[in-house]
Amino acid sequence: MQEASPSQIIRSHQKDTYYINYLKSSISDIAQSVLGQSSLLRWRNEIAIVADLAYFGLTTFSGFQTLGEEYVNLLQFDDTKRAIPSAPKRLLLVLLHCTAPYIVDKFIQRCQKGVERDELNFRPEARELLLKLLEITRHSVTFLHRSHLALFYLRGIYYHIAKRVTSIKYIRTRPIPKSSEIQGSYGYKILGYLYLAQVSISSMVYVYDWYKKRATISSAEFHPQAKSVQLSKKSSPQTTDKCALCLEYRKDTTATPCGHLFCWNCITEWCLMKPQCPLCRTEVTGSRLVFLQNYDTG
Ligand SMILES: [Zn+2]
Ligand SMILES: [Zn+2]
Repeated sequence: MQEASPSQIIRSHQKDTYYINYLKSSISDIAQSVLGQSSLLRWRNEIAIVADLAYFGLTTFSGFQTLGEEYVNLLQFDDTKRAIPSAPKRLLLVLLHCTAPYIVDKFIQRCQKGVERDELNFRPEARELLLKLLEITRHSVTFLHRSHLALFYLRGIYYHIAKRVTSIKYIRTRPIPKSSEIQGSYGYKILGYLYLAQVSISSMVYVYDWYKKRATISSAEFHPQAKSVQLSKKSSPQTTDKCALCLEYRKDTTATPCGHLFCWNCITEWCLMKPQCPLCRTEVTGSRLVFLQNYDTG
């Protein structure tokens, strides 16, 4: 039995994503007609998890191949290579894969809100330090995801972090031509190194920006006038600056063709689930979204 090639794993994942998005869209339609548009906006992340759990619960957890795995002839196996992973291991895989990113994100968000509202009466210095640590944790999660993907391109075994944690690998049930496999593996290795370079450079840029910001803040402390300008700018955001999807102040403002504004991350995620404007239901595809450069700074 041979282990699966990276290209097979990626193709299987793409096929699964296609079916999961279809499922998400159908569940959203039902939720929209039963609960209404505002509930759909509020519960969209939870609906996405229900779709993931339904898909992987009916396939992986029940001991069947997913549609993507079936499409490229892959089979999950445990370390012995003799059997499919045990039921508790499959359950752990499904739960980790579907819910862990959501739980981590919610936990960090909750902590940030708690510290910002000063629920535990921290000293100002401790509050600032905690907020900084939480922001670093948030970035570390993104860094971890990207590094993991780079590692997959270089080593080609675990595409998902949940599979690495549970050490569930893939074997192929049908052989593929050796020549195409060797060619493909070189391509992925180059991609892996490029991805690694990108991750390293973006982390360095992040650290550099952070130092620069700190330097500006400490210089503002010496010039009270500059500080007051900075604070007054931050303390008077308009309600129209809020994103209707996350209900926070917009990050990376993006416009739909109908002229509604959202965060880039929020609206791109939304369009994957439902290709229409969350506010006026005009048809919107990802390619028609316009990222408004220099909008936030203006
Ligand atoms: Zn948003
Ligand atoms: Zn709209």
